[in-house]
Amino acid sequence: MPPKFKKPDDGIEKPTRLRDYPRYWLLRAKGFFSRLLYIIGLVWRAAPLMLVFMVALCILDGVLPVLGAYISRDLLNAIADLVMLRSDGGLGSDVFEVLSPIIFLFILNFIYLFAKKILTRLNSMVTGISGELVVNHIKMMILEKSKVVDMRSFDRPEFYEKLENANREASMRPLHILSATFNVVSALISAVSFVVVLVGLSPFAPLIIVAAAVPGAIVNFYYRNRNFHYIRRHSKERREMNYYSQLMVDKDRAKEIRILGLADTFIERYSRVFKCYYKGLKGLILSEGIWQICIGLISTLVNCGLFLYIAYNVVFMNGLVGDYSLYSGALTSISGYVTTLLTATATIYEGTLFIDNIMTFMKEKIEITAPDEPRLPERGAKHTIVFENVSFKYPGTDKYVLKDINLRFEPTDSVVLVGLNGAGKTTLIKLLTRLYDPTEGRILLDGNDLKEYDPKSLYAMFGIIFQDYGRYAETVGENIRFGDVDREYTDEDIVRAAVEGNADGFITELPHGYETPLTRIFEEDGIELSGGQWQKISVARAFYKESDILILDEPTASLDPLAEKEVFDQFRELSEGKITVFVSHRLSSAVDASKIVVLDGGTVAEIGTHEELMAKGGRYHELFTVQAQRYIAEEI
Ligand code: ADP
Repeated sequence: MPPKFKKPDDGIEKPTRLRDYPRYWLLRAKGFFSRLLYIIGLVWRAAPLMLVFMVALCILDGVLPVLGAYISRDLLNAIADLVMLRSDGGLGSDVFEVLSPIIFLFILNFIYLFAKKILTRLNSMVTGISGELVVNHIKMMILEKSKVVDMRSFDRPEFYEKLENANREASMRPLHILSATFNVVSALISAVSFVVVLVGLSPFAPLIIVAAAVPGAIVNFYYRNRNFHYIRRHSKERREMNYYSQLMVDKDRAKEIRILGLADTFIERYSRVFKCYYKGLKGLILSEGIWQICIGLISTLVNCGLFLYIAYNVVFMNGLVGDYSLYSGALTSISGYVTTLLTATATIYEGTLFIDNIMTFMKEKIEITAPDEPRLPERGAKHTIVFENVSFKYPGTDKYVLKDINLRFEPTDSVVLVGLNGAGKTTLIKLLTRLYDPTEGRILLDGNDLKEYDPKSLYAMFGIIFQDYGRYAETVGENIRFGDVDREYTDEDIVRAAVEGNADGFITELPHGYETPLTRIFEEDGIELSGGQWQKISVARAFYKESDILILDEPTASLDPLAEKEVFDQFRELSEGKITVFVSHRLSSAVDASKIVVLDGGTVAEIGTHEELMAKGGRYHELFTVQAQRYIAEEI
């Protein structure tokens, strides 16, 4: 029978029965080592040569201190001999012969001290360089992953949590863990070497030192664990803090925040969240400090006891002054190394728990992927699109945003999707472009389920302008070219798209024409465009792409109805023979459409041409009449 477990802990559940504990600890140790290996793998991929250097430096770092201790012992003994000789009047004419061993030892000492300095410098150089490379490598991993995660992931707060955690940990955490690991290795080498030295004095001395370090280690591990859980539990607070601080520096929000006087509210919220987050963390830091001071008292007492014992041996057991230096040095070093060992191990342990954040982010499941043998859409052909009993709920919600949609778009259809806000128009576009998969039913392109196609080639078919199209801090030309970055292009292609999008007129008047940098985020001479000008750039971007199906999701919302109709007509003209889908809540734009789809509460209420739907006297007729009356009233 499998063991019964209770409370989850780092993904491994804590056992309720004593006899299940060995298995539990084994699993945790396995988890620890697999995370450590993951980190080593990361560093190896990011900076293999640096990793080799780190290993070499860590071994040298371990061996050098013991050599130093022996040099100090011999130096001290040699000096003591000289002092004796001088007081006995033995420093006769042959001074050089007497001094030569001591000079040799001083030279050795110089080499040792200089080697130590070089080692420290090399260590910081290697850590500095590999730090940058590792951070860059992990950031790239996160960016590559972000590129492919499903849109549905962005709807879930847990996803943002993972992303935030992964981004935070991407900074120095892996390298800290790795340096701590090497610290452990070199401390281990040094400690073992010094233990060998100390055994010469008493086999119990090293045991006593190690035993004195155990309580400190326990406290350390305990607090590392609590620290990790605290930070994980308060991830929401950290995200809130990020959110408020981002809001305050967001250029697009700055206008509203000033006029509405929201700044103090957000600053106040930020500080309130910080206080709550900080309170618990401060408690943890303080209580750990107090515990460590108390435990420090015990280990200092033990060390002093051992110093006394060494002094007793030197004085009463025919020891030399140098022996005191060697043994007391060994003792101090061992206790130092044992502390390093335990602290670094606890840091590694805590660090590996955090590394889980990166690992879980990288494991975020992707559902919109290419099948084993993906179809490629036939570019330039006449396409048909069919919605078959399509229903959809957003992830993590119970409400159907679209219910039982059945539609058919023919190759030359100009479709206008109309409906009130929240009717499901944008959602339908997201399904049509396979940013999401339907919860039920299927969507067919040329008779085949969208899921059978390679998503990248599928996306390449659509020319689309979203409501919240991108306004990139790049040049005007780049902003247009982003419509299809993979396409081989000439300047004429960009100008042609701009002319088609009615943008060429104002672009040529800009100080550097198509080379003008947009926004002033990076460039002093960057230009801020008006809403209407940005809109024209987005239209040009859509025209730049050689697409098979054109979609406009209310990008014209800030244009007046006539201007919107102009854009729609232009699109229709330029996309002769292609399916075009326009989303609008302005029905005047729908008059010339070959197919008007009226969405209401997530269902298709009516389909037909303007004339058919007006004649029917249903929902469309009602909406159109209300809007028309409003426009007439506005004109009067
Ligand atoms: P429309 O484009 O017709 O204004 P949408 O398709 O944007 O409507 O939205 C339809 C419904 O889906 C709305 O009730 C909206 O609140 C909900 N909705 C939109 N996006 C999401 C999302 N990412 N997660 C959950 N619900 C959403």
